[in-house]
Amino acid sequence: MILYLLLLVTNDPFFKKFVLDKGVSPFAGWPGKKSAKTMLHINQGQHLKLITKTFVSLTHFKANRHLKLILPRTFAFTELRKTWFSTQPLLGNKNIILMGPPGAGKTTVGKIIGQKLDCVVIDVDNDILETTWNMTVAEKLKDVGNEQFLEEEGKALLNFNASGAVISLSGSNPMHEATMQHLKKNGIIVYLDVPVIDIINRLNLMKIDRIVGQNSGMPLKEILKYRKKFYKKWYDIRIFCEDGASTEVVADKVFDAVKRYRDVDSETFVSTRCKFRHPEERVTPKYFSDAVIEGLASDGGLFVPRKEFPKLSCLEWKSLVGATYVERAQVILERCIHPVDIPASRLGEMIETAYGENFACSKIAPVRHLSGNQFILELFHGPTGSFKDLSLQLMPHMFAHCIPRTCNYLILVATSGDTGSAVLNGFSRLTGSDKQRIAAVTFFPEDGISGFQKEQIIGSQKENGWAVGVKSDFDFCQTAIKKMFNDSDYTGFLTVEYGTALSSANSINWGRLLPQVIYHASAYLDLVNQGFISFGSQVDVCIPTGNFGNILSAVYAKMMGIPFRKFICASNQNHVLTDFIKTGLYDLRQRKLVQTFSPSIDILKSSNLERHLHFVTDRDGKLMTKLFHQLESQQHFQLEKILVEKLQQDFIADWCSEENCLAAINSTYHTSGYILDPHTAIAKVVADRVQDKTCPVILASTAHYSKFAPAIMQALKIKEINQTSSSQLCLLSSYNALPPPHEALLERTKQQDPKYHICAPDVNILKDHVETLIQTHFMKVF
Ligand SMILES: *Cc1c(COP(=O)(O)O)cnc(C)c1O
Repeated sequence: MILYLLLLVTNDPFFKKFVLDKGVSPFAGWPGKKSAKTMLHINQGQHLKLITKTFVSLTHFKANRHLKLILPRTFAFTELRKTWFSTQPLLGNKNIILMGPPGAGKTTVGKIIGQKLDCVVIDVDNDILETTWNMTVAEKLKDVGNEQFLEEEGKALLNFNASGAVISLSGSNPMHEATMQHLKKNGIIVYLDVPVIDIINRLNLMKIDRIVGQNSGMPLKEILKYRKKFYKKWYDIRIFCEDGASTEVVADKVFDAVKRYRDVDSETFVSTRCKFRHPEERVTPKYFSDAVIEGLASDGGLFVPRKEFPKLSCLEWKSLVGATYVERAQVILERCIHPVDIPASRLGEMIETAYGENFACSKIAPVRHLSGNQFILELFHGPTGSFKDLSLQLMPHMFAHCIPRTCNYLILVATSGDTGSAVLNGFSRLTGSDKQRIAAVTFFPEDGISGFQKEQIIGSQKENGWAVGVKSDFDFCQTAIKKMFNDSDYTGFLTVEYGTALSSANSINWGRLLPQVIYHASAYLDLVNQGFISFGSQVDVCIPTGNFGNILSAVYAKMMGIPFRKFICASNQNHVLTDFIKTGLYDLRQRKLVQTFSPSIDILKSSNLERHLHFVTDRDGKLMTKLFHQLESQQHFQLEKILVEKLQQDFIADWCSEENCLAAINSTYHTSGYILDPHTAIAKVVADRVQDKTCPVILASTAHYSKFAPAIMQALKIKEINQTSSSQLCLLSSYNALPPPHEALLERTKQQDPKYHICAPDVNILKDHVETLIQTHFMKVF
C-alpha cells in the first residue's frame, strides 16, 4: 500500500460523501465544521475521481507520488463567512464606529443609533478627548498646534477599549494610522460620506473653529479633499448622505447597512435553471465570488442574484448627478457586491485603477448629443476601443481578489472580435503576484477575423497573455474550450501537476455584466447634468445587441432606479433576437450565420437572454431548463403568449440591412460630422425607425469606428490606394471628424507585430499548447 497525502481543505458534503463512498479511509477523520488537513490511504491502482462543483477533478493517481491537493474554492469563502462575525444580534461585541468630516452629523447620528440599539454611545471629542485633557478640543488645538494635536489625539485613543458601543470619531482620527488599526480590530467603520459642498455650507453655519489645519491658511475645501483620502482608506461601510438627508434618515441607513454587512448570507446567487422555489433550503449557496470564478453554473444555467437588485433612492441618484464616473461606480457597485466578497474600500481602489489614465477620455463613458432627440453614449474610449473595456478593465481585479491564494488561474476565451484584445489587455494590467498567478489565453480563428482585429489581438499579448490562432472557425475555438473545461482528466492533471485551474471571462460572467450597469446609469445622470432632462423623466436606450449583455445591464440599471422607458434591441442581418422579441419564437432552423459589417453582433445563440427570460418568467427555473434544452436539441423554442407580451412591455426590436447600415454612416457623417461605427449605425437606423421621439434616446456606441475602417471607407466612398490597416486608420484620422481618432488604436498599427502561435484544429494540440504555456509561465507550486 502506498500512502498518499492529500491536503483537503473542504467541507463540501458532496465531496466528502463521494470519497467515503469509494471506500477511501480517512486517516485523521473527516473535517467537521472546520476544514482540516486530512490524510488518506489509497490503495495502489485505485482510481479516485474527485470532482467538486467548482473545478478540481483528479484521476489516475500515479504510483509513488506524494500529492498535495488543495481544493480552494469550497474553502475560502464558506469558512470566511462562518467566522465573519458572531451570531449575536446586530452588534455582538463589535462597535459601530462613525467616521466622516466635521459637520457630517456623527455625534447626532450616533445618539440616535445608540437609542435604537440600546447601547453605549461614545463621542470621541466630548467623552474621551475633552475629559482626558481637561480642556476643550479648540483650546487644545490652539495650545499645541496641528501636528502635536494629531499625535496626542491618537494616543488618547490607543488605550481606549469598548465593545458593543456606538463610537463617533473626531474628524481627524482617521489621519492617525495606529489609532485606526486599533479601532478597526473590533469595529465596523461606517463612513458618513457627505458632499464637500454641503459640508462647507454646514460648517459656515455652525462657525466651527476646531478643525485641524484650519489655521494654516489652507482653504477648507482642500482640507476636506485631503481628508477624504484617509476616510476612503478605512471604511467598511459607506453611507451615502445625499443633500438634505435628515439625521434620522442617515441613522436608518446606517442601521440597514450594518445589518447587511453582518448578514453574510444575504446576497447569494442561483442558477437560472435552478428547479427550487426556495433554493436556500436545497442547494449550497453561491456567492458573488463563486459566480465570478465559475462563470457558468454547473447545470448549464447562468448565475443571477437571488434577491432583487438594490435600489438607490431618487435623492441618492440626484446627488450623483455631479459626481465623476469613478464616484458613481463606487456607489453603485458597493450596493451590488457584498463586502465579504470584496470590502468596499478595496473595491473603491479597484475602480480607481480600472477607470483612470487607461481611458482616453477622463469622463470614461461620455454622452454626446447627436441630433434631435438622439444621444450617443461613447463606450469606446478604453484601451482596445470597444465597450468590452468598460467591464474588462475592472473584472480582472475582482477576479484576482476572489480566487483563493493557493492556486494559479489560466483564463481561456474564444474570440471572434473585440473580446480577445479586451481580455488580454485587462488581465495584463494586474500587478505583482496577481500577474504571476493569473494569465489569459485567447483562441481566435486564424482566417476568420478582420486584419485589424487580428493585429489588435496579437498586439495585445503581454507577459501573462497569449493569442493563439486556430486554423478553423470561431465555433471550433469555442467548442474546444468547452471540451477542455469538461475534461476532468485534463483539468485534474493541470491542478495536480501545476497547481493551475482553468477559468473563463466570457460575456456570461457576472463580473463582466455588473460593471456595465454603471455606464447606463452614468449616461442618464449625464443627461441630467447637461440640462437635457430633469431626474425622473423617461429615456429610451437603443443598443446593438449580440449576446444580450449590454442591453441586459441597462435593464439592471432600471431596476436600480434609473427611469429608462424602452430597451430597443437592434440587430443586423442575423436577427434571431429581433424575431424572438417580436414573436416569442426563438428559431435557429434554416438560419445560417452571415458575415456582416457589424461582426460583433453576428451571433445566433444569445446567451444572456436566458437571464432576462428567467426574470420575465418570475424565476421559473424548470421552464428555463426546458426551453434551453429544447433549443439545444430541436433548434427552437416558443415562449407563451402572455410572457411574450410581458417581454414586449419593455422591449422593442428591429433589424438593419447592410445597405442601410452603410447609408446611415454616410448620412450621419455628412449631416453631423460624426462617424458612427457599423454597430452604432445599426442602432441609429433602428432608433430612427421604431423610437417614437416622445423622449430622448441614448444610442450605445459600442466601438470606435477605426476598428472597422474598411466598412467606413466603403460607406464614406473613400477610395483607398494602400490597403494596410495602418494606412486606412491614418487616412480616416485625417478627416478631422468626430469622435477624435483613437490614439491607442493608431499606436497599435505602428508597432511591429510580435510573434504568436498557430495551432491545427485539433483539441489535443490546443491542450498541449495550453500545458506548455502553463509550464513556462507559472512557477510550479508543488
Ligand atoms: C460585443 C459587442 C457587441 C455585443 O454586445 P452584447 O453584450 O453581446 O449584446 C456589440 N458591439 C460591439 C462593438 C461589441 O464588441
